[in-house]
This record gives sequence, C-alpha cells and structure tokens, in this order.
Amino acid sequence: MASIAQQDISPVLFEDTSVAFASQSDSKLRKTYWLFAMMNQAWLVNLGTFFIKLALELRLPVKNLIRNTIFEQFCGGETITDCEKTISALAQSGIGTILDYSVEGEDSEESFEATTAEILRTIDKAAVSEHIPFTVFKVTGIGSTELLEKVQQKAELTTSEQEAFERIRSRVNSLCSRACNKGVRIFIDAEESWIQDVIDKLAYEMMGKYNRQQPIVYNTFQLYRHETLGQLKNAYLTARDKGYYLGAKLVRGAYIEKERVRARENQYCDPVHKNKAATDNDFNASVDFCLEHIEHIAVCLGTHNEFSSLCCASKMKKRGIAQNDQRVWFAQLQGMSDNISFNMAKAGYNVAKYVPYGPIDAVMPYLFRRAQENKSIAGQSSREYLLVKSEIKRRGISTM
Ligand SMILES: Cc1cc2nc3c(=O)[nH]c(=O)nc-3n(C[C@H](O)[C@H](O)[C@H](O)COP(=O)(O)OP(=O)(O)OC[C@H]3O[C@@H](n4cnc5c(N)ncnc54)[C@H](O)[C@@H]3O)c2cc1C
Repeated sequence: MASIAQQDISPVLFEDTSVAFASQSDSKLRKTYWLFAMMNQAWLVNLGTFFIKLALELRLPVKNLIRNTIFEQFCGGETITDCEKTISALAQSGIGTILDYSVEGEDSEESFEATTAEILRTIDKAAVSEHIPFTVFKVTGIGSTELLEKVQQKAELTTSEQEAFERIRSRVNSLCSRACNKGVRIFIDAEESWIQDVIDKLAYEMMGKYNRQQPIVYNTFQLYRHETLGQLKNAYLTARDKGYYLGAKLVRGAYIEKERVRARENQYCDPVHKNKAATDNDFNASVDFCLEHIEHIAVCLGTHNEFSSLCCASKMKKRGIAQNDQRVWFAQLQGMSDNISFNMAKAGYNVAKYVPYGPIDAVMPYLFRRAQENKSIAGQSSREYLLVKSEIKRRGISTM
C-alpha cells in the first residue's frame, strides 16, 4: 500500500483516542468496553443473535436489555425527538448528524407510505437544524425488493406491478423534491447488485431534476464491484453533458457475502472484486477522480478506513481544496470509528455520522449487521475493541 508523506496532510492523528472518547465518562467508557469485548467473541455474537431473534419472536421481555446495550451504542433512539441528545452531543465536537430511519424488512404499501412520511420528517428536521447536513433513504424502505428485482430483470409486469413501480418512483420523487425545495442534501443508499441498476436509474433521474443549481441528490457507489469505478466516470460525463451536478457517496459495499453466495448459486460472474486490495484500489481511485473533477462532483466518503480518509485529506491539500469545502464530506456510522470522526472534525474537515433510529424490533437487522462487523476475524480483535481498550489503558482505569 502506498504511504502518505506527513507533510501532505493536515495533522489528523487517528490514534488519539483521548479526542475520540472525550465525551465518554469513565463509567460510559467501561460500558462501551464490555460491549465491544463481548462482540469481539465471534461465538457469543452468533449465539446472541440466535437467542435475541428467538426471544423477539416469542415476545420475551428482552427489549430493555437490547435498548441499554447494542441499541444505545449504535442508535439515536426510537424517534427523531429521542435523537436530539445525540445530535447535540455530536454537534459539540463539530460533527453533523444524518438521521437514518433504519426500519428494515417491512413489505406492505402501508409501511412504504409510513416510511416515506417519516423520511419527509427527517428532511423537514434537517431544514431547520444546522447540525444535520444530509438526509438519507433506502429505496427498499419505500418499495418492494421483489418488484425492483423484476424491473431490473426487465420481466413483464402486471398492471398492478406497473402501478406499484410508479408509486415507488413517485415516493422517490417526493423525497428528492422536498429535499430540493428545502435545500437539504439527500443520499440514496446502495443495495444489492440485483436491484442496484434500478436504484441507479432512479437516482440519475432525480439528479437531472434537482441537481441543476447545486448537488442535492447523491447516489452511492460501491467500490467493491468491478464495474463501479467505470460507472462513476460515466455518471460524471453524463452529468457534465446534461448540465447537472453529480452527488457521489463512495463506499466499499456492505453485501459482500450475499453477493458471493448468489453469484455462486446462480453461476454468474461474481460482481465483487476478488480481494480487498482491489476494492481498496478502486475506492482510493474514485476519491482521486472525484477530487479531480470537483467542479462538477460533490463527494462524501462513507468509510471507516483510516488510510482512505488520510489519503483523501492528503489529496485535498495537494489540489488546494480547503478542509471545510462543502463539496467534500467524510461520514461514519454512529458508535463506530469515533477516532476518525472526532479527529477529522477537530482538524477542520466536514464530518457527519449516520444516526440510525426507529422502533427496536425494526432496527434489529441493522444491529445484527453491526454486531457481525465487530466480531474478531481470524483471531484478530476488532478495530473498535482495540481502540476502546487503548483509551481505557491511557486513562489508567480498570475495566470493572
Ligand atoms: C456513512 C456510511 C454510509 C454507508 N452507506 C452504504 C451504502 O449505502 N451501501 C452499502 O453497501 N454500504 C454502505 N456502507 C458500508 C460500507 O459499504 C462498508 O461495508 C463499511 O463501511 C466497511 O468498509 P470501510 O470502507 O469502512 O473499510 P474497510 O474496513 O477497510 O473495508 C471493509 C470492506 O472492504 C470490502 N472487502 C472486504 N473484504 C473483501 C474481499 N475479500 N474482497 C473484496 N472486497 C472486500 C467490503 O466492502 C468490506 O465491507 C456505508 C458506510 C458508512 C460509514
């Protein structure tokens, strides 16, 4: 991996855990330590996931336990009002909040309408809060995954399916149009490859409508896919030719296992890079491309990768892009990589955190993913666990 010359970057010290955990009292830090220590045990995560799923199905009283542990660590609360505390705590360190209504697995027109209404409320909230720089939604939160898949396959749709797809498009439009009217930037999250083409198409349709004056709508580019870097370049050319700004959220991609399994089962070419190094290369090359074309592209790096964050900081400096230039943002998830968020914000970069919220049952799939991500892999402790452990050591406090 290429190294970055120290003089090329503004001073960002990710190992400075005193900044990352400054807002946590000793007792809160101990709680965080135990949570990550438990999640670091792969067998405990697997067993815990199994029992929590079962307990929720059997309606056993486990919600308080979840609320006081994993939910408190990774979510802002059950409602927008609950998230106020997190919004102001992050704002005190110069970090913005991205309210992420994280309800998953609902599959009825009624729930799609309810989710759309809730996301509209997050846009309204962002419009009146200087601490909420972006809003976000997933297309599968407001429309049927099965239908999106059929549309991507260009399968023949029944009349009612055609109508249902028009309703998805109209919901996407109502969110982007409200965002544009209120001057609030909005991310469209990326999902599985078998529905992503449809999501991309909707995203570009919205950009063509709402990104004429300034970047409002951002599509998400998953750089773990072979074809994404090329697609980013084409998206830029199209945006430039058609006269709108390209909004690009760059991520590595969250569905690697699902993608590989499906490609294997259905015997098609795996859309994901063969190894992590190839994903890293494309991610860093995309950052480079966006900065090179910053006149036309607004970019947000959704990453917990220290090297990519530093690399971007270094390239910004080389290109004379100010740290607080509104066209470049860094984003992490609430409860993770605080060493990046707090240290980058302290150094003057634009930083925001996704703060998921929603009823406990409905955000469980999100929480299970976070627990899986924080397991130790091949005997290596998780990044978050090591960070909190090092802060405990720095403070010289016991873990009990
Ligand atoms: C603010 C924010 C928004 C996000 N939004 C989305 C979104 O809309 N859609 C989405 O899919 N994800 C999203 N993610 C998740 C993201 O895609 C990554 O899964 C996650 O951030 C971990 O990647 P990383 O860049 O932080 O760092 P790292 O920990 O350095 O990278 C881990 C990632 O590398 C890739 N990888 C790992 N092993 C391999 C391998 N063997 N071969 C190829 N690639 C490999 C995978 O993508 C894996 O997630 C978001 C993340 C953040 C922080």
